[in-house]
Order: sequence, then C-alpha cells, then structure tokens
Amino acid sequence: MIDQLRMRLAIAEAKKAEANGWVPLGVIIVKDNEVIASGTSHVSELLDSTAHGESWCMKKACQKLQSIDLSGCTLYSTLESCSMCLGCAGWTSLSRVVFGAYKEDIPECPYEIPDYHAEEHAKRFPHLTVQGGILREECKALMKNIKNWTLHQ
Ligand SMILES: [Zn+2]
Repeated sequence: MIDQLRMRLAIAEAKKAEANGWVPLGVIIVKDNEVIASGTSHVSELLDSTAHGESWCMKKACQKLQSIDLSGCTLYSTLESCSMCLGCAGWTSLSRVVFGAYKEDIPECPYEIPDYHAEEHAKRFPHLTVQGGILREECKALMKNIKNWTLHQ
C-alpha cells in the first residue's frame, strides 16, 4: 500500500511536468519516509540525453544528502527505467526502484535495448531490486497523449 501512495506522488510530478509542457513522467526518491528528490525528464529542455527523470532525481538526491551513496533509498517512477538509469542506481547503491507503466505500455517509447526489461536487468546489480506495475493503468494513461516521443524525452 505504501508503494501505491508514493506512486501517487510520482504521478502528481508527472502531471505537473505535463502542465509545464514537458514529458508527463514523474519521479520521486524516498529515504526514511521522506521525499528527498522529485522531478521529471529534462532531456529536451536541456538537450541533455542523460537528464532522464530518474537520473535527474538521483543527482538531486545526492546533492541533498551530500553523498553519492543512496543506499536505503527507493526511487518511484511512473515509467519503466532504462538501463542508463538502472546503471546510475547501481553506481549510487540505490536500494530499490519501483515503476508504474511497462515500456510495452507505451508503444512509441523507444528504449535503447529492444528486448530490455528493467526487472530482469536489475538482477545484475547486487543491492538493487526493481518492481514494476504499481498503479500501472494510471501511469500508462499519463502517456496517452505522447505522439512523438523523440521530441519529448
Ligand atoms: Zn533512463
């Protein structure tokens, strides 16, 4: 139940992003029941292909904690995280990633590895667990208006 409540906060971030004309993707990072980072993708705005919502929030969380160690933190994302973001999670020792919609839910959404699945990929990281499908339909619905993903990442 706590995962659903926290995913609702990520969904709220996605709606805020959409209202700003950005991709409707939301991310929060929680440590000790406190949201220590929240946000969305800034790829198009900054022309920075590394500024995905998850990596952006991990950067903010590290700055907040003044540490590159995010062990004990859980990241909630409305969309399945890519391998770059799981790599960031590995580098920062993040403990858990929870996401809503699976990449298959968003046919226009390109991933760099076609047969990639975050839950499977995460098994390569010793300290990271990944769980998808939390509030899946609501998270999927967020992305229904995305027509040209490459313009909105
Ligand atoms: Zn990513």
